[in-house]
Amino acid sequence: MAHHDLVVIGTGSGNTFLDERFAGLDVALVEHGVFGGTCLNVGCIPTKMYVYAADVAELVHRASTYGVDASVDKIRWTDIRDRVFGRIDPISAGGREYRVERSPNVTVYFGHARFTGEREVAVERTDGSGSDTITADRVVVAAGGRPSIPSVVAASGVPFETSDTVMRVEAVPRRLAILGGGYIAAEFAHVFSALGAEVTVICRSPRLLRHLDDTISDRFTELASARWDTRLSRLVTGLSGDGSGGDGEVRLTLDDGSEVVADTLLVATGRTPNGDRMDLDAAGITVHADGRLAVDEYQRSVSAEGVWALGDVSSPHQLKHVANHEAKIVGHNLAHPDDLRATDHAFVPAAVFTDPQIASVGMTETEARAAGLDITVKVQNVGDVAYGWAMEDTTGLCKIIAEKGTGRLLGAHLIGPQASTLIQPLIQAMAFGLDARSMATGQYWIHPALPEVVENALLGLEI
Ligand SMILES: Cc1cc2nc3c(=O)[nH]c(=O)nc-3n(C[C@H](O)[C@H](O)[C@H](O)COP(=O)(O)OP(=O)(O)OC[C@H]3O[C@@H](n4cnc5c(N)ncnc54)[C@H](O)[C@@H]3O)c2cc1C
Repeated sequence: MAHHDLVVIGTGSGNTFLDERFAGLDVALVEHGVFGGTCLNVGCIPTKMYVYAADVAELVHRASTYGVDASVDKIRWTDIRDRVFGRIDPISAGGREYRVERSPNVTVYFGHARFTGEREVAVERTDGSGSDTITADRVVVAAGGRPSIPSVVAASGVPFETSDTVMRVEAVPRRLAILGGGYIAAEFAHVFSALGAEVTVICRSPRLLRHLDDTISDRFTELASARWDTRLSRLVTGLSGDGSGGDGEVRLTLDDGSEVVADTLLVATGRTPNGDRMDLDAAGITVHADGRLAVDEYQRSVSAEGVWALGDVSSPHQLKHVANHEAKIVGHNLAHPDDLRATDHAFVPAAVFTDPQIASVGMTETEARAAGLDITVKVQNVGDVAYGWAMEDTTGLCKIIAEKGTGRLLGAHLIGPQASTLIQPLIQAMAFGLDARSMATGQYWIHPALPEVVENALLGLEI
């Protein structure tokens, strides 16, 4: 049984804090999948590379609006796919090579880690050659999450894709059924429809992206329903067929008796933290009701001494920028046990790279009202500012929620072109405590640029 100073389980964000501060420690890094984790291999980065190609195709489809007649001659799916993974796969391989070949203090174990005792882990090697048991003074669980598969799908035996697999398929399916109404469903609906698929979205809630502010969720649901076949407030009751690419077909029966027929089924019904496959009980590690490891503000397990966790396996926010922040906190706290830093989850922004883009930070209007705050709300249309006229935008908006009297910014929600970029000054203002009036009037806003929609929304608040 090998003993290490530190064991890190997971090579996504878990691999990012192991810098020179840990050079003097004997570190074990455990990975049961592709080196580099979700964001790099099957998450943020490849999806956004596909989204960019989809955005280009959509712009061409809409070009005649601006008096520029153009058409998409052909989508070269395999070229798009190979460009994406031709960039990503070498980064993953390089990261692996760096840890295996050029990090003398790090031993990489390729296998599935389960706890067998306090800070004791058994690693079942991925090559099937057996297992290793390792112990450590300190353990960091950075094991992420995986796609959740509803039991009706799993039990059916019908082939399906998830976000882990769908980006590597051989061709754009002619008909794609997407199960789910969250951000992964919204992003892939945009990608595949822009690249030529007929998309059907099946969602059990009456609204897509229902966790977002109502104004944004309603607007997106309306736009999505005009573009894709959306089956809202519907459950899948049965599946049959052999479809997933090729000549196969999949048939989904819905709870109102209707049917969806597609060539490929993409299941995008949320993600499950991976702690449930790690025998956490054996190490006395407690979890929340939703399966996330329970940690304190310093990212320490609330129940098991010497155990830390970060990222999707424990975080309330399943976002890479949050996982990275938590990894920095864990790195600092492991290196400086007498000067612990707390994680900052105060103003966590998020974007959905669908069409149109969506971004949000802070409270929704419903949350602010439920908190009993005295608020002022302004919704400013993108089409009200000059750049919006240039873009002929009729659907984008910026909604800002502030506290009356003080002008304290409580929440910002945008849908429309470049929403993920436009929101950044609002995130900055909230993080640094800038009030709405000072933000609007204390700086220049470039005319006639798109951020004028943010300026006008701020000026429209009745503080
Ligand atoms: C399709 C998609 C799109 C996304 N887009 C965005 C986006 O645009 N912006 C954003 O902020 N976030 C996005 N995310 C979320 C983001 O990818 C995650 O929040 C982030 O990658 C989580 O990082 P992590 O380090 O916690 O986990 P991961 O990166 O998942 O790393 C966990 C690692 O642990 C390994 N592992 C798990 N269990 C074990 C075990 N028992 N033994 C050994 N190894 C194990 C896994 O193989 C994995 O490599 C997206 C996610 C998906 C799926």
